[in-house]
Amino acid sequence: MYRDHTRVVQIGDRKIGGGNPILIQSMTNTKTEDIEGTVKQILALEAAGCEIIRCTVPTIEAARAVKEIKKQIHIPLVADIHFDYKMAIAAMENGADKIRINPGNIGGKEKIKAVVDTARERNIPIRVGVNSGSLEKELVKKYDGVTAEGLVESALDKVKIIEDLGYDNLVISIKSSDVMMCVKAHELLAEQTSYPLHVGITEAGTLYSGNIKSAVGLGIILYQGIGDTIRVSLTGDPVEEIKSAKRILKTLNLRKGGVEVVSCPTCGRTQIDLIGLANQVETMVQEFPLDIKVAVMGCVVNGPGEAKEADIGIAGGKGEGLLIKKGEIVRKVPEDQLLQVLRQELENWK
Ligand code: SF4
Repeated sequence: MYRDHTRVVQIGDRKIGGGNPILIQSMTNTKTEDIEGTVKQILALEAAGCEIIRCTVPTIEAARAVKEIKKQIHIPLVADIHFDYKMAIAAMENGADKIRINPGNIGGKEKIKAVVDTARERNIPIRVGVNSGSLEKELVKKYDGVTAEGLVESALDKVKIIEDLGYDNLVISIKSSDVMMCVKAHELLAEQTSYPLHVGITEAGTLYSGNIKSAVGLGIILYQGIGDTIRVSLTGDPVEEIKSAKRILKTLNLRKGGVEVVSCPTCGRTQIDLIGLANQVETMVQEFPLDIKVAVMGCVVNGPGEAKEADIGIAGGKGEGLLIKKGEIVRKVPEDQLLQVLRQELENWK
């Protein structure tokens, strides 16, 4: 599997590549110069399960803020740089654990060299990122449009620029909002390099479309054993990105842990507000660090049978529901106490 054979890259105190667990990333949407606001958001992301955080560093104030932010957070921080190589250097001097650059937009070779020299002195990895929106004109012309082949060539060209400067502590990312182009680009890239890959679908959209595009795209890519760290990009609260990323990894059996909620689709037999109850359960279980499956079923007739694969479940009936374990009815529960009883069971779960 590609992922097992990628090089290991150390980002702060975490490692990616070489078969290490796929780490979940997100990006802050605060002004990085706003230390308090940025730290607050990162701590919320950490609590949700974020393992690497990226912050934009567009100004020298933002680069200096990195130092203070790092003192108050517990996960590696990646500085995202566009255009100004001095910001990349300043971010590293202020403690960034990794930088993300597009060598194509930070100036000439001398400037890239200055960035690489600083990275080498401090052994800081560089993520070389290319994006379908900024593919070079020559490659667009060569491949008759923006294509997976063009994106891969662009990424490998940029990697080569840095390799030629004698540095190979690298991670690569190729992003496209076209899901299938992104999939193809990763397949091609995985055949041609052994650097760890940061995978994501860019500009995926709002919660609804972004989640579907990311789940499909990342699902296909990760299922092939490609990808060492992921970011789900959503137009919304970045905490949602973490929840989605965790769910994608869990669905692919690439992560364990956390309560999985299964719920029936409801039908004419449903006798309670199952949609409301399932949503309440989904929020409630997040507090419990258990690795179990919880079922929320809409009726007492088929609910127990359909919840057979779950460790514990509740089924709603008119005025009275059921508590179920492994498909066996444990006892009847008044309808308005189903959530509370489930909570007690989880609190006492051994
Ligand atoms: S568990 Fe009951 S309510 Fe839910 S889909 Fe099955 S039959 Fe319908």
